[in-house]
Parts: sequence; C-alpha cells; structure tokens
Amino acid sequence: MDLRSLSIAELRERVARAGEPPFRAEQLFRWLHGPGAGGMGSVRIPLAPSTVPRALRDAFLAEAPLVPLVPDGSVASVDGTRKFRFRTHDDRVVESVLIPDDKQERSKLTLCISCQVGCAWGCTFCATATMGFGRNLTAGEMVEQLYWAMESVGQKPTNVVFMGMGEPLHNFDQVTRALSIIEHPWGAGLSPRRLTVSTAGVVSGMDMLGRVRPLPNLAISLNATTDEVRDQIMPINRRWRIASLLAAARRFPLGHHRRITFEYVLFAGVNDSDVDAARLPRLLSGIPSKVNLIPWNPVPGLPFSRPSEARVLAFQNRVRRPDLPVYVRTPRGDDSAAACGQLAARIDEAGPERVAFGLVGHLS
Ligand code: SF4
Repeated sequence: MDLRSLSIAELRERVARAGEPPFRAEQLFRWLHGPGAGGMGSVRIPLAPSTVPRALRDAFLAEAPLVPLVPDGSVASVDGTRKFRFRTHDDRVVESVLIPDDKQERSKLTLCISCQVGCAWGCTFCATATMGFGRNLTAGEMVEQLYWAMESVGQKPTNVVFMGMGEPLHNFDQVTRALSIIEHPWGAGLSPRRLTVSTAGVVSGMDMLGRVRPLPNLAISLNATTDEVRDQIMPINRRWRIASLLAAARRFPLGHHRRITFEYVLFAGVNDSDVDAARLPRLLSGIPSKVNLIPWNPVPGLPFSRPSEARVLAFQNRVRRPDLPVYVRTPRGDDSAAACGQLAARIDEAGPERVAFGLVGHLS
C-alpha cells in the first residue's frame, strides 16, 4: 500500500501505532493531498511544505513508499480538451482527460481518470480492450491524475469521473479509497455529487457501491436495448444480462433529486433504430435516469460508423420523456484522440519506449 492510498482512518491508526499525537494524521493527510501537494513526478515526494517532522515523514515513507506517476506528455485539442499521459513506476502507461464545458458561460471542467492499466472486459468498440488487462491502479495513482491536472491548468476540476481506462467496479477497493480522499475537505474537497463512477455493468460492484457513504453518482454504459446486440458489443452482458443490470440500477439507493446516467453510444445500423429508441425508455421505466447519447467517435480498424446527425436527433426525440432527459454528447477532443471511447495509451510494436495514443474505453 502506497502512502497516498491510505484513508484518513488508516493514517490515524498508523499515527497512533507510532505513538504520535492524533493531530499528526491531519498534518500527514494535508501534506499528501492538500493544496499544493501537486503531482510528485520524479521527486517522489509531495512538494507541499509540511508541518510533519522530517523524521516522522521518513518513517511513514519507509513503511509505505510512494508510487508516483511521471508525466509523459499531454495533447491539447482545438476545443480545449487536454489529454495527459503518465508512466507508472513499473513502466505502464495510463491517461486522463480534462474536458472543459462547451458552453463558455459555465465554468464546468470535468476530469476523466483511469482506474486500471487496460481492461479485462473486451468491449468490441473500445481501444482499452485491445490492450488487455495490465493491473489495477492504486488510489494514490488515481488521485495523482487529479493533482497533475490541477497543477497543469492551475484550477480544480469541478467534476471527476471514473470513466477512463478500466472498469472502476473491478478495482472497487482502490476506487472507493480514491473517492474518499478526493472528497475529503483536507484534500481536494470535491462534493460527492461531483464524483461519478461509470460501470459497464458489474452488478455485484453496483450493489457494493450502493453501500458506500457518501454516495457518488452512478453512470452505466448500456449501449444496447437487447441482450443479443449487447452480447456482441459488450461481453460483460453474457455474465450480467440487461434485466439483471437494470434490476441492480433499481436497487441503487439514489438520494433525493439524483438520477442514474445511462450512457448510450450510438453505432449506425447496430443500436440506433426506431425500435431501439422506443424500447429504451421502457427499459428505464421506474429508474430515475437521464440518458447521454454519444455518437460513435470513429476509430480506425473498428467495424462501426457514426450515425448521421439527423438519425441522432430523431433517436433523441423518440427516447425523450417528461421524466427522462436525453442529451446528445458533443464529441470533444476528436483531433487529439481524447474523445469518448478514444483514449488509450498503448505500447506499440516498436518497443516499450514508443507509446502510441490509440483509443480507449469507457470514456463515456
Ligand atoms: S468500454 Fe469500459 S468495460 Fe468495456 S473494455 Fe472498455 S474500459 Fe473495459
């Protein structure tokens, strides 16, 4: 366990075990996660000034070393989207994306972070899937993506979504640790209402997430209205069918005025028919929901195409209900392969020193 992955409760335990006064836990947490902590990079130690005695810091670091991410380039898109690439201590590559709101009058800034190197689920439209599964990221590696983004743009994102590389509910322990660190007032202090966990449909994990407090937002990548189609594009559906996924969504303990977001990537001729559009609101009936329609971002080599704008709007109009808001997500960052479903760092065949941006996952 790296030091930046420890919860405040765990820091308190370790401080007590070390015979130190309880306030040292707050000092340590602020040093690791508070304003100015920043990314660590090659210095392997948070840069913020600390009130924790040096000897005590060293003792904690000896017991739980840090595993910093090293920035390995960033790409900016003309629409303001920025993709960051990092190398891990074991020479893996992960990415995160910072997405400004397209409506200038609002200052929404969303950071999409990765929770795994690669992914095990093999969705046929997803570039992360082509990487296979590497390993889980630690909570420290996840929160550091946030700190680097903050350092890079000099601003705290308004929203953080676990939608990058990997399936968050397959790394449940570390993702929930990261949530508790990000929302802590001594750290970045983001409201849980600004944090979203997106799943491809890990039903057991959804039930566990429903017991987490404070409760983050839940997003589900649905992408089909029949098991036949979902089986073809999302192999996870063979394990958890649509009916069982939606039953878990119905059980999810939403708070007042909260909705589950259903992501629906539109593939021309696959899941964008009028019949699909009629079926979708029936499937979601009884679940406080909103739907994000995401016209497929073309990816070379993958056998899908984007529906026409007219088809997307027709689909939106057919799905929309008074109690079911339906939004069309403007593709962002396509010119830097940072758009939804287009984020994947992949070591290419030329060797581990050359990294190619491909397409990833779950960024929806
Ligand atoms: S879409 Fe999500 S769950 Fe599916 S392979 Fe990609 S990252 Fe994994």
